[in-house]
This record gives sequence, structure tokens and C-alpha cells, in this order.
Amino acid sequence: MQKKFEEYAKLLVEIGVNIQKGQTLIINCPVDCAWFARLCAKAAYAAGCREVVMGWGDDQLNREKYLHADSDVFDAVPEWRVRFCTDYAREGAAFLFIGGSDPEALKGVEQDRLVRSSRASGKALEEYRQLQMSNAIPWCVGAIPVPSWAKKVFPGCPEEEAMEKLWNAILTSVRVDGSGSAVQRWKEHLDTLQVRINKLNELRLESLHYTNSLGTDLTIRLPEDHVWGGGDGVSKAGVHFIANMPTEEIFTAPLRDGIDGVVYSAMPLSLNGELVDKFHFAIKAGRIVEVHAEVGEEKLKAETALDEGASYFGEVALVPYDSPIRNQDLLFYNTLFDENAACHLAFGEAYPECIRGGESMTREELKAHGLNDSITHVDFMVGTADLRITGRTREGKEVAVFTDGNFAI
Ligand code: ZN
Ligand code: ZN
Repeated sequence: MQKKFEEYAKLLVEIGVNIQKGQTLIINCPVDCAWFARLCAKAAYAAGCREVVMGWGDDQLNREKYLHADSDVFDAVPEWRVRFCTDYAREGAAFLFIGGSDPEALKGVEQDRLVRSSRASGKALEEYRQLQMSNAIPWCVGAIPVPSWAKKVFPGCPEEEAMEKLWNAILTSVRVDGSGSAVQRWKEHLDTLQVRINKLNELRLESLHYTNSLGTDLTIRLPEDHVWGGGDGVSKAGVHFIANMPTEEIFTAPLRDGIDGVVYSAMPLSLNGELVDKFHFAIKAGRIVEVHAEVGEEKLKAETALDEGASYFGEVALVPYDSPIRNQDLLFYNTLFDENAACHLAFGEAYPECIRGGESMTREELKAHGLNDSITHVDFMVGTADLRITGRTREGKEVAVFTDGNFAI
């Protein structure tokens, strides 16, 4: 296993954030997984990193804070934290987020505290968030198992076995097998994604129509100058990086007011430490007008009401049902993995790169091109084995984009 761990750390550092000589690397990691952060730091220094700066996280301490800290803590972000993120981002540092969390870490926490905290950090960290969303800085989100998460994914197994199984599932998803060929495999994977991206961009679709047996019947119009992307991004400094590992999706942005119909979730969603399941939205002229969920309805309603843009959509992503992640037939209870096992949508902020020239546009210009703006961005899975997506070109021609859950183009 040690070899696989080293290969994974190297992959995150060299292909994920693609660390450059003389560049600072910020690593966020659960404190229980410090050993893995050390492997990443080692790989970064070997590649010429200037300095590795750590940010530690801990589910249980975070939970204690939300349960017991003074109420006014959730209305402000201390200046030093704003400076930490923003200054490093301005300098062009790379950010590696290694996630590993109990999907229900914040269950039972007062909703109002979470909402206020999201609003406060959304506002205080706006510049940092914009630099990240517009790919100005290289960033990468990866994951590492922790026992609470592993036991959720493999409920019948003792802790040690569950951890081993989750490690294997993660490493399979990111194409690491210990042979040292992961970097090469990723290059091939990116090439495959690019072929599909090119095809979709050539179609110049006007809209997409989703239907499946869950009851989804949704029409999504796309901005005239939308661009499909996926795989890697290019930072302001011209360096390629991969924002999510794994990534199987090809995505673009919908026209902010161009969505109508009903969409049903295909998988549970771990939303800020709580599960939401069996939900659907009714959408009119882009806006979510009804939210229904069998599990976690209040949570979901609060998130879609975080700000005005939270009730509009920011992402349309296509993932074939037949993907290395889906083929493991596992529910990860973690969006990084589950969103790469099924077609998904996101409500909230759109990525500027989804419009031609969007990365250098102002917020107002992006809005004028039909892109949504919000302090949140929540992906949820809608893809099923019988999902059908029919595209319509600007000339009115119908094209089968997805049939039976897989690409038809
Ligand atoms: Zn996505
Ligand atoms: Zn997303």
C-alpha cells in the first residue's frame, strides 16, 4: 500500500495542482491524516515547491464549535483568515484540499449557525473565491478516508476493513495502482475527455431536454457563447491543473433564467455535514420555486435560500453511467466521488470558463452573458441508468446526447 499512497500524493501534487518551482503550496488536510499531508509535502518539495503551508481540519472540533461556540462567532470571519487565503491566492500559490469527513459530521447542528457562517465567509472571502472560480489560481480537491466516512460507505464491515475498502475505492477512482503509471493514465484520460468536449462544442446546442423514469422532465437552455469543458484547467500563470480528482465530467453553465420543469435527485447528497435524500425541485424561468425532500428538506431549503443566486443554477455536467466510479457500484456519500458517477447539476455560482472569454470578464459582464452568481455552489446527482438527454441545435435539429444513461455522441 505504501507505494500506492506515495503515487497518489505525487499525483495530487504534480498533476492535481501541478506545483511549479518556487511556488507556495497550501495544503488543507484532516489532522488525523497528517501522515498523508507529509507525503504530499515531500512530493511538493521534490518538485521545487518554495514552502508548504498547512491548514488542519478536524470534524469533531468543527462540530464542537458549531454546537457550543458563542453565537456571534458565526457572523464574522477574522481578518487574519481572510488575509491568509487572499494573500496566498494573490501571490499565485497553489491550493490542495484533501477532504475526509463524516458525511453526517454536523447532523443536529443549529441550521441558522451554518447559514450565517456560510454567508459571512461567502462575503469575507469573495476575492479568494473569485480567484478560485475563475481558475486564476491552481487548486485541486482530493480525498482521503477517515473511519467515520468509511463506516458509512461500508456499514457492515469492522473499521479496519472499511478503511481498507474505502482506500481501494478511492485509489481505483483516481487510477492509482502502485505501478507508477498514474500520471500517464491521467494524460490518456484527459485526451479521451477532450474528444467528447470538442464534439459537444461543435454541436453548438441551444438547449438540453432531460427525461427519466424518476419523473425528471427538464429543459435547460444554454448561453449562446457557452463552452463545454472538463478535465484540466489553465491558471493565470498558464499552468495546467485538475480541480477535482477524480473527474469524469464534461460541464458547462446553463442560461440563468433558461431552465423549466422538474428534476429528481438520483442519489443522496451530503450537504455541509448532513444528508439530504429523495428530493426534487420544480423550476420556473431558471428559479427553484419548489423544494421537496424526504430526508433533510429544511437543510436543502436553507441552502437554496442562502442568497438570490442560490435558487438559480450554475452548472450542467454530463457523466456517463458507465464510468470507473459508477462501475464500482458504491455510494460514497461524498460529492467529489458521487458527482463523478452520474450526470449532475449544481445550483449556485457558475464557472466563468463556461463562457467564451469568461475568465477575464467582470461579474456584471458574466451576468449579462446569462451566468449565475452566488456564494454557494452545490452539485447534486440526477443521472440514472435510463436517463435520456436530447439536445436541440440553434438550427432546430434534435440530437441524442445521452441514451440509457450513457453518451450517444
Ligand atoms: Zn461538476
Ligand atoms: Zn460543480
